[in-house]
Amino acid sequence: MSLSTAAAFTLEDWKRTGAEVLRGLDSRLFIDGEFRASPEGRRIETVNPATGEVIAEVTAASPSDVDRAVQAARRSFRAGAWAGLAPRDRMAVMYRWAELIEANAPELCVLETLDMGKPIRDVVAGDLPSVAGFIRFCAECIDKIDGRVTSTDPSALHMILREPLGVVGAISPWNYPMLMATWKIAPALAAGNSVVLKPAEQAPLSCLRLAQLFVEAGGPAGVLNVLNGIGEIAGRALALHTDVDKVSFTGSTQVGKLMLVYSGQSNMKKVALECGGKSPQIFLDDLPDLDRAVEAAFRGIYGNQGEVCNAGSRLLVARSIHEEFVARFKARAAEAFVPGDPLDPATSMGPLVDHHSQRRVLGMVEAGVREGACLEMGGDAPASLASGAYVNPTLFTSVRPDMSIAREEIFGPVASLIPFDSVDEALEIANDTIYGLAASVWTRDLSTAVRCVRAIQAGVVWVNTFDESDMTQPFGGFKQSGNSKDNCIDSVRAYMQEKSAWIRL
Ligand code: NAD
Repeated sequence: MSLSTAAAFTLEDWKRTGAEVLRGLDSRLFIDGEFRASPEGRRIETVNPATGEVIAEVTAASPSDVDRAVQAARRSFRAGAWAGLAPRDRMAVMYRWAELIEANAPELCVLETLDMGKPIRDVVAGDLPSVAGFIRFCAECIDKIDGRVTSTDPSALHMILREPLGVVGAISPWNYPMLMATWKIAPALAAGNSVVLKPAEQAPLSCLRLAQLFVEAGGPAGVLNVLNGIGEIAGRALALHTDVDKVSFTGSTQVGKLMLVYSGQSNMKKVALECGGKSPQIFLDDLPDLDRAVEAAFRGIYGNQGEVCNAGSRLLVARSIHEEFVARFKARAAEAFVPGDPLDPATSMGPLVDHHSQRRVLGMVEAGVREGACLEMGGDAPASLASGAYVNPTLFTSVRPDMSIAREEIFGPVASLIPFDSVDEALEIANDTIYGLAASVWTRDLSTAVRCVRAIQAGVVWVNTFDESDMTQPFGGFKQSGNSKDNCIDSVRAYMQEKSAWIRL
């Protein structure tokens, strides 16, 4: 099987594959190269958000399971099982790993969709190839990152060496379960570390298979461990563990702040945070192509059900084009995003990750209405899909920057459109947020574009496009969106430390 086979699957093929995969699933803890039970035996249910059915129970790690996994990682690191391999040998394992991921594409893709509800076509065309591609990118970095020899007095030799950190704890979210985990584990492994990953409890299945495939590819036991479990128990124990050298976290700002506390309460481990966002897209009245801009606006907020950290959730639109913008947005978005069975390759929009999330998003919609915004579209759950956690694509207009729907991360398919009268006003609104993950500006004028890029406080600013990138792009936020970068060669360096060796000759 392969990615191209998966791309040709029908709904029936996916249903059959899903049932087979769930029957053969091992959902215990993956520690030291094997699936293992937890002595405490606690399990958590995982629910298909499209149907509300329980599809699996996974072992939930206790603090002592976390300790076992960290010890296994530390043993493998000390033994040099991975860090001690020649760079080319580590590269070969990572390349084989990427190949195995592609070879097992149907299984991994269906697990992702059953677990968190994203449309299967997006996993096949987007998540899965990005996972394999990023692992290859990190593998390529392995023998390209060097140390340095500095210019010193000839009586000394000064070398700056780069070494892996040791044991990395990775804590990942559920919105792109495999991809967000890979953005942590692939650079950490490429840098020579051993890793313990704690995926989100809402989508625990696919990462277990990723770890198993790493071992099948020749990855030594103990180098990549995956523990599912409750954030406040297993995630907390991992982030507090005194034998973890760095915790790399992607998730909410609220939990990201706890990581800093855990580090201070334990061993001052390094902390990398990729957190929430409330990204503005600024549409100026001289934008080059209104249709393309409108398309970027609705794709930027309804793609992946709006469950995207950099979702373009605030649409800042020049008042002079506002009316036409809204008319085209409503007409085209309603055609492009229709909620349906995410296993059907024709479906463009799945359910939210769970019913809790659905209630939270619908609650935010109620708040928007209460605060006086105009509900133009959606705001409810589709009646024909009542057992799933669906929310229709939603658009608010007449939003004021002080309203909760303009300030809080909704993490669902809800766009808040705020009109403005000048570039200065747009920039002020864009920056009036605790977040700073991403933004875009749409204009024909190069000078205005550059002025906006410089003025916007965000880690990524797009011009006349949105959410475009490849793996060379440092992705990460300013302000309370985080303190590090994923997805580029520097992300591999971030899992290394520099040692200075001064040699008297
Ligand atoms: P979350 O913060 O609830 O959970 C993230 C992870 O942290 C999960 O694995 C969870 O189990 C764990 N966790 C929860 N409480 C914990 C605790 N007390 N101690 C230790 N670990 C704990 O986030 P989520 O709901 O899974 O994901 C959505 C959030 O992630 C959104 O805010 C989104 O913007 C953000 N996100 C950011 C990026 C980025 O690159 N900046 C990417 C994807 C998602």
